[in-house]
Amino acid sequence: MPARIRLCASEQSIAGIFNEHIIMPPTYDPLSARTPGVGEPHMPSFWTATAGITPADDGIAPGIAETDVAIIGGGYTGLSCAWHLAQTYGIKPMVLEANRPGWGCSGRNGGFARAAIGRHSYARMIELWGADTARSVFRESLAAVQNVRDIVKECGMPEAGVETGHLKIAHRPGHAAALAAEADLLQREYGYAAEYFNADQVGEQHIGGTQSHGALRFADALAVHPLKFAHGLLTLARKAGAAVHSASPVLEWKKSGATHVLTTPQGSVRAKTVVLATNGYTPEHLHHCVQGTTLPLLSHIIVTRPMTATEKTGSGFRTSHVLTDTRNLLYYWRRLPDDRILFGGRGLITDTPDGHARQRDFLLAELKAKLPALRDISVDYDWWGWVCLTADFLPHIHRAADDSSVHYAMGYQGSGVAYAPYAGKLLAAVVAGDTCLSPALPVATPLPRFPLAGLRRIGQRAIYQWYRWRDGQD
Ligand SMILES: Cc1cc2nc3c(=O)[nH]c(=O)nc-3n(C[C@H](O)[C@H](O)[C@H](O)COP(=O)(O)OP(=O)(O)OC[C@H]3O[C@@H](n4cnc5c(N)ncnc54)[C@H](O)[C@@H]3O)c2cc1C
Repeated sequence: MPARIRLCASEQSIAGIFNEHIIMPPTYDPLSARTPGVGEPHMPSFWTATAGITPADDGIAPGIAETDVAIIGGGYTGLSCAWHLAQTYGIKPMVLEANRPGWGCSGRNGGFARAAIGRHSYARMIELWGADTARSVFRESLAAVQNVRDIVKECGMPEAGVETGHLKIAHRPGHAAALAAEADLLQREYGYAAEYFNADQVGEQHIGGTQSHGALRFADALAVHPLKFAHGLLTLARKAGAAVHSASPVLEWKKSGATHVLTTPQGSVRAKTVVLATNGYTPEHLHHCVQGTTLPLLSHIIVTRPMTATEKTGSGFRTSHVLTDTRNLLYYWRRLPDDRILFGGRGLITDTPDGHARQRDFLLAELKAKLPALRDISVDYDWWGWVCLTADFLPHIHRAADDSSVHYAMGYQGSGVAYAPYAGKLLAAVVAGDTCLSPALPVATPLPRFPLAGLRRIGQRAIYQWYRWRDGQD
């Protein structure tokens, strides 16, 4: 394992060195590690290089502390829950973050804030739950996008989230008809004005290349600067009176009577209620209510150097929309304001230092296959993080079966930029006793356990093989 190297915010200019793979971050797998670290720096990325000044947090949690509500995890879920508890309900919670606010997925994602809850298609949602419930779930996903707009406005950082649209692009000709049918279904059953563009329309209005055979357009999406957005939530939470502690991992969790005792490296925090907001970074041992319920998967992002004028014309990359394709192991990409391209896709199965360089090269080759005009483009940044899958491909907002003072929200399936802050808001209302989520809503049910949970990584390998084969068909 390579040596751990810590960078403080002012040292992030050496991020370029990291991205040339001279410095590697430590390997880490939530299924086996006991903590994601203690006070680790943000992973160097395009976002850390452009986030500006990091707002203050409340530093390391005190050695002995008591609180009504402790929130474990300082990403969008935890910070949003903390903000709403303090702002709306006058409950001043204590957020315990192992590293620093936004260190997990929330500071390093692709920044696609789009209407998405789970991985089911709109047709499958109707089959699974009936039309009324499917429509409620879809409405919730739109409410989550609206919530992002509200947060961006509230924190006064318009650059943290810019209005755009989302295009789901047919990567092979055989997928275009399914997208056209999906647009019809969304209009007819969900009352949503989704649009279908044929290949010519996609090329003229949005993007050229070899894999643009039609697209489904959603008008509701924002292109987010994920770390600025996390910083915005941090500031809102603290202003409202929440305490947000960095470098404060919960190493052990015991119950003494009605009180939870959370052990940190400095001492312990005693809490009446605990919220788990750790998503893809949830250590297996942390609490029995989440054991065997999450499958953390690595997602990897590259950011290229800015495109030249010739490359812009040649690729026909004129859209500011956020883009995904129709693969099961999908790619996601967007043009950044300075004409760089952010391109992401599945990462390694296990986090090994030398594997990431291969993954970066693989993603660059896939980008060039889509847009051959970019044959000479190079990568300036690449990084990765753990997204969270669940056994039923849905996020869950619920509580421990045997302890109503333990709440959680997690399992965003790589689509939590909009839904995680919204789930944090819902969770705050539940924790404050203001509402019970309707049990008819599929997300308001307990996290299911994976069958043969001990074999999750083996299952992942098999599913990746199958998906790779499927993605090459039609
Ligand atoms: C590369 C990548 C690209 C992505 N792109 C997109 C995208 O474009 N659109 C989209 O919608 N979603 C995307 N996602 C997913 C999205 O970022 C997440 O769903 C969302 O940020 C989850 O937020 P969270 O607060 O629940 O979890 P996180 O932000 O992951 O926060 C969890 C935190 O818990 C902390 N923690 C864990 N254990 C402990 C402990 N024992 N004690 C204290 N703290 C602990 C971790 O340090 C971490 O900071 C992407 C994810 C990745 C990795």
